[in-house]
Amino acid sequence: MKLSKKLISLFLVSMLAVIMLAACGAAKDESSGDKKDAKSGKTITFGVKNDTRLFGLKDPASGEVEGFDIDIANELAKRMYGDDTKVNLKEVTSKTRIPMLKNGSIDAIIATMTITEERKKEVDFSDVYFEAGQSLLVKKGSKIKSIKDLNKDTTVLAVKGSTSTQNIREKAKDAPVLEFENYAEAFTALKAGKGDTLTTDNSILYGMADEDNKYQVVGGTFTDEPYGIAVKKGNKELLDKINKALKDMKDDGTYDEIYKKWIKIDSSK
Ligand code: GLU
Repeated sequence: MKLSKKLISLFLVSMLAVIMLAACGAAKDESSGDKKDAKSGKTITFGVKNDTRLFGLKDPASGEVEGFDIDIANELAKRMYGDDTKVNLKEVTSKTRIPMLKNGSIDAIIATMTITEERKKEVDFSDVYFEAGQSLLVKKGSKIKSIKDLNKDTTVLAVKGSTSTQNIREKAKDAPVLEFENYAEAFTALKAGKGDTLTTDNSILYGMADEDNKYQVVGGTFTDEPYGIAVKKGNKELLDKINKALKDMKDDGTYDEIYKKWIKIDSSK
């Protein structure tokens, strides 16, 4: 009797262990794409912008996201894991991208993101894949011609979580800054007269000027914004793959093709 009781409890304990192990396995499978099999049917999830013309813009009609960053993301995935790789594109904003990478919602950020020392404490960056610089967008005819014209009477519009917000506070100390969740909101606010200028990378501002020719980029650039692809800190395996694929794309001309497709304006002007 005693022995059978012991056997039953032993049986129950082992069943419990089996169930717990199975649950652990299932939980692992649901984690971010990079953990899945690297051969076929591989899924990788990139965090991209959905509101940034030329880099990552969602077409509301088709639901497709298009731009330089999107083409780079697709090309990288193909080179890293093969043609049948499934590429998931999740929307990030300047503010949400690092938290989303850290919590495993995405495997990498390809979203107009500047490599900075401060951000390097939180994420690891690939080699530079695009060079931008911060500038100003104004309505044509504006009295603002460059950063020197910013003062306590000129309101600057910017986006939360961007380097642009930090930089402008340092470089135009007296100018009030209004921060928005994303670039679509910031541009709408500029059009509605809620500020005198919108500041971010020239590459992004050119996309806005392209969308509405009543606006123009002025004064050249006053910072360097080298873009990098960010991965979770310590994910060396993925970072090495990204850097290799980036280098190959540059060497065989694919990078230049993607660049020419999207970046038509001479940013030195
Ligand atoms: N490149 C700048 C940054 O990383 C501005 C563009 C953006 O907000 O993504 O903050």
